[in-house]
Parts: sequence; C-alpha cells; structure tokens
Amino acid sequence: MILLKCMKMLHVFAILLLPYLHQAFGGAGNEWGYEGKIGPNRWHINFPHCAGFRQSPVSIRMNKAVFNSDWLLPFEMRGYDSADNINLHLENTGYTIQVNIKGRSIYITDGSIPGTYIAEQFHFHWGRVDQRGSEHDIDGMYFPMEMHIVHYNAKYMDFNDALDKEDGLVVLAFLFEIGNHNDQLDHLISHFSEIPYRDNVTLIESFALREFLPKKLDTYCRYSGSLTTPPCYESVQWFIFYETIEISEEQLRAFRMDVHQNHPNETIRDISDDFRPPQPLYQRNIYCSRKSDDN
Ligand SMILES: [Zn+2]
Repeated sequence: MILLKCMKMLHVFAILLLPYLHQAFGGAGNEWGYEGKIGPNRWHINFPHCAGFRQSPVSIRMNKAVFNSDWLLPFEMRGYDSADNINLHLENTGYTIQVNIKGRSIYITDGSIPGTYIAEQFHFHWGRVDQRGSEHDIDGMYFPMEMHIVHYNAKYMDFNDALDKEDGLVVLAFLFEIGNHNDQLDHLISHFSEIPYRDNVTLIESFALREFLPKKLDTYCRYSGSLTTPPCYESVQWFIFYETIEISEEQLRAFRMDVHQNHPNETIRDISDDFRPPQPLYQRNIYCSRKSDDN
C-alpha cells in the first residue's frame, strides 16, 4: 500500500517536472523550421494546435468567397500617420525580419473589428525565387513576399496575454509585387548589415507606418484563422488586402542574401522560404469585398 502511494507520488512528481527535464536535457521539443524533420508537416507533433480546424494561411478562391458582407465595414487606423511616440526595433528572429513597435499609439478600431487592436510588430515572409514567398495565395497566384502587421486586443494586458485568446489578434496582410524601388523599405534594408544573424536587434529611426502601405485599403478579404508559426494558436482575424506593395529585385535580394537564420559561428543559412503552405479551409468562409473596378 505504501509502495503504491510512493509510486503515485513519483508519477505526479515526474509529470510536474517533465517540461523542465525536457529542457534540461536539451530536448528538441520546441524546435521548428520550414524544412525537413522540423518542417510545417511535423509542427503538430510538438504544437498540437497546428493540426486544428482553423489554421492559416489558406488559399483564397474568389469563386467561393462570400461578397458584400457586413463583415467588411471600413475600419479606422489611428497613429499610422505619425512617427511620434513610438520606438522601432528591427530584429532578426532567425525565422524572419521583424520590426517590434514599442508604444501603444498605433491601433485599429471600428468597422467590423470587435474592439481596439494595438500594433505590436510587423514581419515578412519571402521566397528564395520570385514565384513563391507569400503565405496566402489568391486563386493559386503566389507573390514573392508578404508582410504581416500583428495587432493585439487592447482589452488584454499585453501581446503575450492576447496571443492564445479567440479574439486576441488582428493581422493585416499585404502582398508584394516586383516593380520599382520602394524608398520606404530602405528604412529597414539599410539596417540589415547590423542584424546579419539570429537574435540581432537594432534600434531604427521611427517612420509613419502608413507610408509603407498601399494607398487604397478599402478592398480586402478576411477570415478567422491562426498564427502561421508554432504554436499556431487559432486567435487571428486575418485581413488580406488586394492592393499590393512594390519591391525592386535588388531590394528583394537584400532580404534573400543579407540576413541569416544562424548564429555567427554556425553554417550560413539564409532565412528565405519562411512560409507555411496553405491549410485546409474546412467549414470556414472567406469574406471579400468586390474589387473597385468590378462596379
Ligand atoms: Zn507572418
């Protein structure tokens, strides 16, 4: 009897300790990437949410989209026009190039968004070649790069608190097309030499985020989905805008060549091809506005 009790206690003890033991012995449990044994097809093994029924990205099929829904009211973007009251930190996370926004002065509200959502960071997904790179595709068309501006619901304490909540996040997604030199992108690219390796961070001069975005923001598709990286929480309202952003070949080359996913003493690996393939839509609808030239 006493033995049985001891065994039970040991069992409970072991369960409580398991996560720590795993870490202590260098468990690769939290490792993930975009290819091979730690690629997207295996994320769900260590991150069960990645096998959920509301995952992102998805393929947007225009002939299956729901048009002109109440879900597509225009929303207001506050603070996007100003560079005041924010600090921007450019970071090489090893998975992407990310700009962390310090300060709570940039947010979106109104329209069909349930509340106020504060901009936390924006980051990019891009391909090694021009034919791929975006996470979302429109009627099978992929783009060389996609930018995500991640916002969290102001009703939560901070971004981490909102991360796994059903109404936690709003992400605005913008697709890139190759074209003219984009002066705004130089705000970031000119600092790539300061963040060549994983975990490098540098403070950059503030600029108005609106300058970065397409002129027209009134036509888009939206749907309920997830983070496109582990732990894949299903906490995101996605907005994918029709209007694209231009980037030159030379600027795209900087994303492909100048930033790496390794630490300084490891083999050089670039970050390119940091996109998750499309996930099943299951029972979800995608709601889209009519393109303005359809009227
Ligand atoms: Zn993203």
